Amino acid sequence: MKKVLKKIKLCWKGLNWRFDNRFDRPEIWESLLVKDKYEIWTTVGGNPINCYSFWYWDEKVLYIWWIHWNEIWTVKLMKRWANLLGSDLGLFPKSCLEQKQIFVIPVLNVDGYKKAKNTPDYLNWGKFWKINFNGVDLNRNFPTTNWEKEACFFSSWKENYVSGGSSPASEPEVKALLDFINAQKIQTIYAFHNCRWTVFGRWENYEKDKKDYSLEKKVRDYSKFSKYRVFSEVEWKALKKKLKTGHMMSWAKENEIQVIEVETNTRWWSEWRRNKGALINSLKI
Ligand SMILES: [Zn+2]
Repeated sequence: MKKVLKKIKLCWKGLNWRFDNRFDRPEIWESLLVKDKYEIWTTVGGNPINCYSFWYWDEKVLYIWWIHWNEIWTVKLMKRWANLLGSDLGLFPKSCLEQKQIFVIPVLNVDGYKKAKNTPDYLNWGKFWKINFNGVDLNRNFPTTNWEKEACFFSSWKENYVSGGSSPASEPEVKALLDFINAQKIQTIYAFHNCRWTVFGRWENYEKDKKDYSLEKKVRDYSKFSKYRVFSEVEWKALKKKLKTGHMMSWAKENEIQVIEVETNTRWWSEWRRNKGALINSLKI
């Protein structure tokens, strides 16, 4: 029985590897985007972290695909987005071409991405590649007041412990991102994950009885176009504290940066059609 299960597991892995690497593998159109590309830092494993930049105006918007565990589909989605930004200007409103500068970082955790591509690990929900080469979950390594060395994430219907780093922002990937955000004075970030089917932004501030209406609009619009539901502040508050240490959404709130966290629907394809309209619309706000 064990042998049969092992064989099924192997077949399943093989099929998924083939599906990932053969049937849906959009690549950056290097020749088209070469003028827009630059490296912002290197990872622990020595791989360059690439950024693509489009147009050059005051209002800066960043689109970032992490990557977490096995979220390689967010990278595929991004590659399509960068190619579209670099090629078809007819799609975008003139007002945004004269106001915004758009940055796209396809993959922050490049080391993890390369590993995950070779070892999809779908049967374990890809949880082993949630981390970088230092074994740190980058989404628990942000410099927040609630940062902890030992962090926690929810996967496979249970809580799993993972490193939040040796200190806040100890990891080069997170440092690279924070430096970039500071240097460019970025105020709006769209961050992508798989796969909870939600859009989330922290526009509510119960203490001051104040709301950030423009962030609320960005979240609700993305939800409307993508059909991912809005994840509410109440739901966020209901999450256990240990699941939110050093988290990007805690950092966003403390630093008053607008972060729109998009969790796509599945880990099985890039959901380009669903996201394309929402992404184009996000440039109009
Ligand atoms: Zn994630």
